[in-house]
Amino acid sequence: MQGWAVPPPGNPIKTQAQLKRERAAKVRWLAAEGLLKSERLRRALLKIPREDFVPREYRDHVYEEVPLPLPGYSATISCPHSYPLFYEPLGLDRGHRFLEIGTGSGYGAAVAREVVGAKGLVVTVEIDPLTLEFARRNLERAGYRDIVLVLGDGGLGYAALAPYDRIAVTAACPDIPPPLLSQLKVGGRLAAPVLRHGRQDLVLVTKTEAAMVRETLCEVLYVNLRGSYGA
Ligand code: SAH
Repeated sequence: MQGWAVPPPGNPIKTQAQLKRERAAKVRWLAAEGLLKSERLRRALLKIPREDFVPREYRDHVYEEVPLPLPGYSATISCPHSYPLFYEPLGLDRGHRFLEIGTGSGYGAAVAREVVGAKGLVVTVEIDPLTLEFARRNLERAGYRDIVLVLGDGGLGYAALAPYDRIAVTAACPDIPPPLLSQLKVGGRLAAPVLRHGRQDLVLVTKTEAAMVRETLCEVLYVNLRGSYGA
């Protein structure tokens, strides 16, 4: 699989109204493609101005199906369809305790917070301090005050607030880091891009009393996980 082609950076010229129309069109497209089914997720995607989660020079490209570069060593905001790609099979829902590995822009955490609501919890772990600072500013500006932002190696999860109902790993790993499986509730689900023969499979794990049930969903392309369980 080839890498992504990053659009050229430039001075943004699109108006807020124009970007809002593009956002609505994107949400309609995701639903028409059958990628988006959950009403809570649909509302979250409609509500959150994704353009406020990317560097200014990429603002006009934010509703294209490409990941865009962010401050930090290897961070990108994932392309728009990747949020339903993870959150639909996870069955992310109201009241869930959700852990995200790889905060990136903070957008994925914001979307999750809209879905889980005030009674749920969103914890997100980022290894790159520059990237985390960028996400923190974006989330503050967008009015999110109760998302727990953690600077650290997400391969280790975040034991202090475990267990979690749902976990999303948004960087590719050689295998699913064992601490994340331990921090998942019985009945919980985890989604992660897993490296296999130079490709990446999006793997969904359901934790039952007896076993970890694994299912491969599709091929994906994410930046590599760093840290102790990194690639
Ligand atoms: N979910 C993000 C996109 C993440 S891109 C969003 O919605 O914008 C992948 C991110 O994972 C990058 O920011 C990268 O720095 C981070 N990352 C890589 N290895 C990590 C690790 N071990 N722990 C936490 N974050 C990691």
